[in-house]
Amino acid sequence: MNWKRVELGGWGRTAVAEMLAARPERLGEVQRALAQVGEEGLVVRGGGRSYGDAALNGGGRVLLTERLDRILAFDEKTGELVVEPGVTFGELTRLFLPRGYIVPVTPGTGFATIGGAVAMDVHGKNHDWAGSFGDHVLWLDLLLPSGQVVRVSPGERPELFLATIGGLGLTGVITAISMRLMHTPAQGVTVRETRVADLDAMLAELHQHRSTSTFSVAWIDAQAPARSLGRGIVEIADPAPEDSRFETAPRRRTMPKHVPSAFLNSVSVRLFNRWYSRRIAPEGRQRSLSFERFLYPLDSVLEWNRLYGRRGFFQFQCVLPDKDGPAGLKQLLETVAKSRRASFLSVLKTLGREGRGHLSFAQRGYTLALDFPRRSGTDVLLALLERVVLDHGGRVYLAKDAALSRHGFAAMYPKLDRFRAVLHEVDPEGRLTSDLARRLAIRAGT
Ligand SMILES: Cc1cc2nc3c(=O)[nH]c(=O)nc-3n(C[C@H](O)[C@H](O)[C@H](O)COP(=O)(O)OP(=O)(O)OC[C@H]3O[C@@H](n4cnc5c(N)ncnc54)[C@H](O)[C@@H]3O)c2cc1C
Repeated sequence: MNWKRVELGGWGRTAVAEMLAARPERLGEVQRALAQVGEEGLVVRGGGRSYGDAALNGGGRVLLTERLDRILAFDEKTGELVVEPGVTFGELTRLFLPRGYIVPVTPGTGFATIGGAVAMDVHGKNHDWAGSFGDHVLWLDLLLPSGQVVRVSPGERPELFLATIGGLGLTGVITAISMRLMHTPAQGVTVRETRVADLDAMLAELHQHRSTSTFSVAWIDAQAPARSLGRGIVEIADPAPEDSRFETAPRRRTMPKHVPSAFLNSVSVRLFNRWYSRRIAPEGRQRSLSFERFLYPLDSVLEWNRLYGRRGFFQFQCVLPDKDGPAGLKQLLETVAKSRRASFLSVLKTLGREGRGHLSFAQRGYTLALDFPRRSGTDVLLALLERVVLDHGGRVYLAKDAALSRHGFAAMYPKLDRFRAVLHEVDPEGRLTSDLARRLAIRAGT
């Protein structure tokens, strides 16, 4: 296998690493690559859309899945699809929507791969009824560090299956995924946007639509004054009638290579938030959007992560359980406001239930995502936010994380011991690894 020295980063560009990379095209090449891995370890990398260090392995090896991107089988009657791990959500939407099928759970970017979605057990804007991505997986083919390929599913090696869903790529290289696509006659959605005055109103609006609407998501103005804490816009969407005319995604543009770090400051973010909120008339608005435009709003600006300048940015995403959620969210927003650090895009969604994987992120409650440019002191703010999440029984999402503490991680993921037991069995030497796994001591105790 040909290994090439590369420098790669997480999507937030705060974590960067030098590694030896291979780009296999066939399963045999993946097996040969894995056989060459020694103590330096190997990480698998899909679309590189994790924000932190989950797909990095500084000083070690990385296996890029971009050429493992074949559709292996599709049953038109049942919707059962089998793909290689490097296939992206964007590609599946493009290929299957015209045939009346859609992936039931998709993250907010079409550039994420199906392998990456399994390894993070991702969620979409429809978690209350659709659950997480892993809930739709029928089986996986997994190349174990031993070189053996095994099929895992809820019925075959179930403990390994549950460790692999949301398993951060540490149990093996996922080489094939079988899932069920959902039938949809609609080619887009009808979206209703409503302005809400504060956090209580926002939570009431989201709660009301949890069980009745297909998709829901809210944007929060994290710079609103204290009396309007949590004000923002709630978007509710449902499949549109077949004869609708849809606004499609705008032509793709690319963010300039060098954006000055000072471009996003508290003034520019305040102006953005004000503009964003006032796009919507006080009485709300309704639009019909293509699925691509609705599901992947940021994908029309390629490399938008450069907006934060050379130093990059952190995304902090957590989930707080239903009961303590409102108090926890209030405290999180107050902590951000007090820090005077601008969060440019702040997104709130509801999640319906626990994910099925041992390290799945989802639990029933509210998930809030906040973006912060990396400046001096941002780490202090992130530690304060972690504390609030711990105090309210929540957890931080590892797909977005670059700053969580080991102690926080262990306290937030109660099935960690079961996960470690599986790792001990399938990879006692720790050949599959990542900077995230080392930072959080995920293997400790194995
Ligand atoms: C704009 C944007 C919006 C997003 N919105 C959401 C959202 O709404 N919901 C959500 O849940 N997430 C969201 N994310 C996060 C993203 O969906 C996850 O980080 C996802 O894992 C990215 O997939 P990827 O292919 O880029 O994986 P990578 O970032 O390349 O890797 C992620 C993990 O998957 C592992 N992995 C990848 N391929 C394999 C394989 N074949 N075998 C074993 N392990 C593998 C890697 O080792 C790593 O641990 C968003 C990210 C961005 C940039």
